[in-house]
Amino acid sequence: MKDKVKVEMSERIEGLSPYLFAELDRRKVALRAKGVDIIDLGVGDPDLPTPKRIVERMMKEILNHLNHRYPSYEGLREFREAVSRWYERRFGVGVDPDVEVLALIGSKEGIAHIPLAFLNPGDCSLIPSPGYPVYHAGTIFAGGESFFLPLLEERGFLPDLGQVPQRVAEKAKLIFINYPNNPTAAVADKEFFSEVVAFAQRYHLIVCHDAAYSEIFFDSYSPTSFLEVDGAKEVGVEFHSLSKTYNMTGWRLGFVVGNRDVLAGLGKIKTNIDSGVFQAIQWAGIEALGGDQSDVEQMREIYQRRRDVMVQGLRKMGLEVTPPLATFYLWVKVPSGYDSASFTSLLLDEAGVVVTPGRGFGEAGEGYVRLSLTVPESRLEEAVERFQRISL
Ligand SMILES: *Cc1c(COP(=O)(O)O)cnc(C)c1O
Repeated sequence: MKDKVKVEMSERIEGLSPYLFAELDRRKVALRAKGVDIIDLGVGDPDLPTPKRIVERMMKEILNHLNHRYPSYEGLREFREAVSRWYERRFGVGVDPDVEVLALIGSKEGIAHIPLAFLNPGDCSLIPSPGYPVYHAGTIFAGGESFFLPLLEERGFLPDLGQVPQRVAEKAKLIFINYPNNPTAAVADKEFFSEVVAFAQRYHLIVCHDAAYSEIFFDSYSPTSFLEVDGAKEVGVEFHSLSKTYNMTGWRLGFVVGNRDVLAGLGKIKTNIDSGVFQAIQWAGIEALGGDQSDVEQMREIYQRRRDVMVQGLRKMGLEVTPPLATFYLWVKVPSGYDSASFTSLLLDEAGVVVTPGRGFGEAGEGYVRLSLTVPESRLEEAVERFQRISL
């Protein structure tokens, strides 16, 4: 008999936080197997289709054999120009398509890779908690360490930079911020971004602003770009994604704009790891960014109606919720007597509704659950009806 090889994971894999949703996934599958009609508000993936104009452009471009070859890692010149025009139109900020724009295989790719360009072993990233898990994973994979910045409700879910110990700030190389925010749905104003710029200047940090939800906004609000504030381009970059804006999560297309030296560093990593985005997808992205944006407008109206249905339903249950100004999430404080896991269980067992326990996004997410508005309005109404049967 052959000896069995013992497969040992690297320390960087062991360093990841345990997957906190495994138990929830197991129970979801078990309930479905029993025939329970589950309403899944746990996923951050749009249910709506990619707009037809974008799909049609893809169909045309995929037939062109010139698009079948290796793309350049930095993205087609035409794609980078389309990004630059979109950025100027949307935020009034100019970015040079040659050196201040980089195409990404989804923004997650750039976020995961950027620590490899700037962290040496033992260096530190400042990371929001609760937060998108990739900031921490990318940091760990680069041999770095995470210092978590709690996002607290009393501060509007903005990190308190004054609380970062001096020795940590001096050791830090990167700071990740994300507004409109996943999972808290909070938004940031220019005043906060200016504070971040001053902090980054003082401690020589690179700012990585994740703006994946910049186009999912409601009422009369419209998010600003980090690069709109003075000095931002000297210290940072902003990650954007076509995933949420154009319902293109499966296509894998994003971009990063901002400081040219930071982009050059990330570009070095990318040339050695990937070979860029399939060109047909980049052409579809050019259509997405440059074409008629009325589909984006309609999508916002749909999410806004869904938001209102769910906010009203939660209030009827006796929960306190403020309607968020952006993102397709609701970040809801659990009622007294529960923690994020036990409240998640209650909603699953009593209503067949899946939500995400806030603890899964970091320690400071305890005490909250996240609900996604990525299911049709009729299903949200059904969820709300089931909630009314629960007595808290
Ligand atoms: C969805 C999401 C992203 C990235 O999406 P991509 O599909 O990789 O572009 C990045 N940040 C946050 C906070 C997200 O929720």
